[in-house]
Amino acid sequence: MQIIQSNLLKQFSNLTQGFTTKDNGNIAFHVNYDKNNIILNHKLLAKKLQYNVDSLVHMKQVHETTIKLIAENDKFTTPPTCDALITNKKNIPLMVMVADCSPLLMYDSKQQVIAVVHAGRAGAFFNIIKATINSFKDNFNSLTEDIYVSIGPSIGECCYEVGGEIYEQAKSLELDFAISVKKNSYFLNISKILDKQLLENGIKKENIEFSTQCTSCNIEEYFSYRAEKETGRFAGLLMLS
Ligand SMILES: [Zn+2]
Repeated sequence: MQIIQSNLLKQFSNLTQGFTTKDNGNIAFHVNYDKNNIILNHKLLAKKLQYNVDSLVHMKQVHETTIKLIAENDKFTTPPTCDALITNKKNIPLMVMVADCSPLLMYDSKQQVIAVVHAGRAGAFFNIIKATINSFKDNFNSLTEDIYVSIGPSIGECCYEVGGEIYEQAKSLELDFAISVKKNSYFLNISKILDKQLLENGIKKENIEFSTQCTSCNIEEYFSYRAEKETGRFAGLLMLS
């Protein structure tokens, strides 16, 4: 069962972290798969990474910018509706699920706070990065220089063709630097936007790591909504211990 660990976060022995692959199966309940099989995939993953599956918190992701602070009653069977989770609680695995969108794992090594973020086009366009960093600062007194960010595999510019209306929207948000025009087509590079937002909000360049793998180019390894249409989800996972 292959799990890709973040090289950047590997230096912190108190973190359980990584990105799942197709080896771990689909882990999302909202897609049309056998529920028992999904629960089994979660149990196998929990066993492999040695956490309690009942305490895992995942999300009903809705492509908005709501950040959820983990509360006592959050558990596996009651995922909150949001696109980012943040906590300083130990032994609570946080999970983000994706198939082309960017999964972010964030860690403040001084205040001991973790967050996971789901950033697709909407998350990038409406700056969920800024909202999450503000949550670190407001709720945990984090300094941005202490925050490490690892971004897992997502769809690359190579495979992310968008229409003229998206180009216009990007332009109006001053994000058109992330779109390349090839012949009469537009290609969107979400990582470019995320990188700019992370730097703009005070994250140090050496504390940012991007996976170079495109999900749509690597459907043997990852789920890709664009390449496969009917597809499962893989996960980014982060836990403090
Ligand atoms: Zn690609």
